Amino acid sequence: MNSMMHMPLLISAIATHAQRYHADGEVVSVKTTGGVERSTWGEVMGHARQLASALEGRGMVQGDRCATLAWNNRRHLEIYFGVSGAGQVCHTINPRLSPQQMGFIINDAKDRVLFFDRTFLPLVVALRDQLSTVKAFVLLGPQDDEAASQINGLLFYDDLIAEGDAEYQWPELDETTPSSLCYTSGTTGNPKGVLYTHRSTVLHTLGGNQPDGLGIGASETVMPVVPMFHVNAWGVPYIAAMTGCKLVLPGPNLDGESLARLIDAEQVSLALGVPTIWMGLLNGLEATGSKAESLKRTVVGGAALPPSMLSAFRDRYGVELIHAWGMTETSPLGTVNQLLAKHRPLDDSAREEIRFGQGRPPYGVELRLVDSQGHLLPCNGETQGELQIRGHWIVAQYFGQDESALTVDGWFDTGDIATLDANGYLIIRDRSKDIIKSGGEWISTVELENIAIAHPGVANAAAIAARHEKWTERPVLIVQRAIRSQVTEEDILESYAGKVPGWQVPDKVIFVGTLPLGSTGKVLKTKLRDEFGDVLLADPS
Ligand code: ADP
Repeated sequence: MNSMMHMPLLISAIATHAQRYHADGEVVSVKTTGGVERSTWGEVMGHARQLASALEGRGMVQGDRCATLAWNNRRHLEIYFGVSGAGQVCHTINPRLSPQQMGFIINDAKDRVLFFDRTFLPLVVALRDQLSTVKAFVLLGPQDDEAASQINGLLFYDDLIAEGDAEYQWPELDETTPSSLCYTSGTTGNPKGVLYTHRSTVLHTLGGNQPDGLGIGASETVMPVVPMFHVNAWGVPYIAAMTGCKLVLPGPNLDGESLARLIDAEQVSLALGVPTIWMGLLNGLEATGSKAESLKRTVVGGAALPPSMLSAFRDRYGVELIHAWGMTETSPLGTVNQLLAKHRPLDDSAREEIRFGQGRPPYGVELRLVDSQGHLLPCNGETQGELQIRGHWIVAQYFGQDESALTVDGWFDTGDIATLDANGYLIIRDRSKDIIKSGGEWISTVELENIAIAHPGVANAAAIAARHEKWTERPVLIVQRAIRSQVTEEDILESYAGKVPGWQVPDKVIFVGTLPLGSTGKVLKTKLRDEFGDVLLADPS
């Protein structure tokens, strides 16, 4: 007999909590068709119940997958809770994937319903014939005759939820029931599905929002710019619903100026997103003249934080950047960078040095380093190794695959090369597929890029391994100049002096109009290696 109550960890319990204890908390959403709509946690969760009831009314059963192709907005939020709450699986699809990849993913997941924003109507029309499992297409909005003329039997979200019962009772599910599905963005391989459960999601929500994690409180105004189609917007929708903070969903306009205006209009205090978004915001703040006075903290993750960005936000706007690391396979929070008491006496530059890293794991996940044979390596802040992780919200098996995704002793290999120190502070040196192996030594592409990006004439830069007859691989830097910049190869190479050993300085700088970006805004190094991987072969030094 249990001496304490046992209640399953369910997403519907977060919904119920939000509806009961902060029903009047605000949810502000930029509409796909323009303008802002105001709603409350009470309305959102009422709609979520209606949606669950309507889906069941139309024959959907527990375990069925419902896909979304949608921006960060109110209806998407309702789907998160309505679909999962009913025991179905919310499958968020990244609209920036190629149509072929999207078709593959929808068929692979056997999605039965596809919810989509108006923006994606042409895409859905083009894809529709390939989607053998989808029984219902639902446009996220009210009745729309023009759209209806393009897809036979098209449903409209606002009509659909009107069929449902606002008093619908959430089912008592087993906490290991799958709740949502997200495919990796395929930066370094084919997309693979990660199937989160109610339990993993609730524990990630609790573990990720500890004071030294995201630390979001009820009095804050939080804007996830990280898309809801990418690893559940880093879990922010669940954290926001659990805490009752004001949530601002930026819709389709993710350019710096739109974000700057939204931050001011809604008094956003915390925003979260990938570095490319924050580079855009810095430009947007300058262009609009905004001082982003309400903004106190920004969480940056998904790719390495360029150190120059940290001081730009702090010195110009008084905004603290918090660096975090994670992956689709880790729900995603693996580490968050907050300081310890012993760091308090350090001077600014020593503290800043720590803040550049990816931070420490919250309770609930563990990290370790191994060498290429799987032997444990020391956590001394210096030894580099392959980063492995385990914990309550880490993948064990990819969706639809029979074999385990783990090592024989139960850890997940992240594919990242890193160092860890005794307190668990992580520094990602590179991805194992990107790191440059020059004459048996490793060169971190991240480090080379950070130095290049700090140059005012550089808008963005990527270091890649180019084949070399003598050294096997040597670094080549691909640079996108800043607007109106005339920066030369020589200028850029000079900036490496004294920052890295001479043998790590790139052999060549190549200027391009724009760097190719993948579906989550990360530079596609595979593409750059295909294009420039042989540039040193004709001219070996
Ligand atoms: P994909 O693998 O397709 O890029 P993910 O979004 O799951 O999709 O990417 C996870 C990877 O992104 C990590 O393994 C790591 O290489 C990189 N990454 C995430 N956050 C950071 C960070 N803060 N610093 C450096 N790299 C990061």
